Amino acid sequence: MNQEQRDQLHQQIVDEVAGLKKTIAQLKESSKPVPPDNAYGRLSRMEAINSKSISEAGLRSARSRLSRLDKALLRLDDEDFGICLSCDRPIPIGRVLLMPESTLCVECADKL
Ligand SMILES: [Zn+2]
Repeated sequence: MNQEQRDQLHQQIVDEVAGLKKTIAQLKESSKPVPPDNAYGRLSRMEAINSKSISEAGLRSARSRLSRLDKALLRLDDEDFGICLSCDRPIPIGRVLLMPESTLCVECADKL
């Protein structure tokens, strides 16, 4: 991977991290406990609980993507960044750009 690709990747990860942080803040808001009082009718309380669990699932996946991106950012300047951990061949740049947290090439990832 050359410096230009590294810079491009760095910018892409930083942008995505910023977006994810926003998403997480919004999801946190919508996954707050649903009040048990009469603020909702019975049906809309069910809906609120439903959408709360959707928000919680989204929150979990956003947080895990965020932590993988954070790790990718830390590894970005490593010699072996973009090199498959299993077969030592370079991971195609397209895959690295799409999934910066990937540490395996497509072939090795498929074997798992
Ligand atoms: Zn491989």
